[in-house]
Amino acid sequence: MSKQYKSKFKRRSILGALLAGGASLPLYANNPTSRDYVNTDAESNSLLWAVAWKETSAEYGALCHQAFNLARLKVDQELNRKSKSKKPLAIITDMDNTIIHATSYWGHIINQNKEFFDDSIWDEWVPKNLIKAIPGSKRFFDYCYDNDVEVFYVTNRDQGAKTFDYALSQLNYLDLPFADKEHLTVYRESSNKMPTKNQINQSHKLILMLGDNLNDYKRDYYIKNVSQRYEVMERDKDEYGDKFILIPNPTDGHWVRAMFGTSEPEPSQENLMLLKEYATRSAWDGE
Ligand SMILES: [Mg+2]
Repeated sequence: MSKQYKSKFKRRSILGALLAGGASLPLYANNPTSRDYVNTDAESNSLLWAVAWKETSAEYGALCHQAFNLARLKVDQELNRKSKSKKPLAIITDMDNTIIHATSYWGHIINQNKEFFDDSIWDEWVPKNLIKAIPGSKRFFDYCYDNDVEVFYVTNRDQGAKTFDYALSQLNYLDLPFADKEHLTVYRESSNKMPTKNQINQSHKLILMLGDNLNDYKRDYYIKNVSQRYEVMERDKDEYGDKFILIPNPTDGHWVRAMFGTSEPEPSQENLMLLKEYATRSAWDGE
């Protein structure tokens, strides 16, 4: 039975409150076509909203700062413990979309009229270092460095024999601490990062993990089923913000795999229809 909350405040119409505050109403009434809009524009691309949000919104930046500020609180909590750990302190972080901003890649994908992740373009893009740091990331990792908390970078990429060098070069390009061979692990064949987690857990006191994909935290999230993946997330709800801190990523990841069965679905009309099916699965029927 759901909990019943009693209103502590006098009821007031939301519309009335907005108007009293000087807000104006949207102009749908004066623009009859806006509500009947059907997109037939050939330039349309299913990635536009997600990439524009990441590229422009202060809200995205604020969410990232929020995540790294919380991470800093966790580090402070550990540093302020009376009983100090005998093991050195450490955090583990993913790279792509956790510290590496990839909007120049996604913008290029859109300009190529592509709507799906393109592996060959990604492999071309990576060595170019057309990257910037995710907001708040460098500040947080520098804080770790200043407080003797080791940062271990773990990524899953494959650009051939130079994969490791490219990844290390990006850490150096962003001027991040601990950018060295001892603190970077690159998985070329698998997205399972748990062996590194287990290894660091033995040699260090692991304070926290950071990533944009729940699979960065636990392999349990490597599930090809949207509902089951969501259930596992609910099971772990108390661990978010405590053991794992998530950076928002609306363009790619294993949430895509849960829908399509693969993280890199084929570009096809059929897959766009499937995307629409998921986007509208709880849609109001208009009645
Ligand atoms: Mg990532």
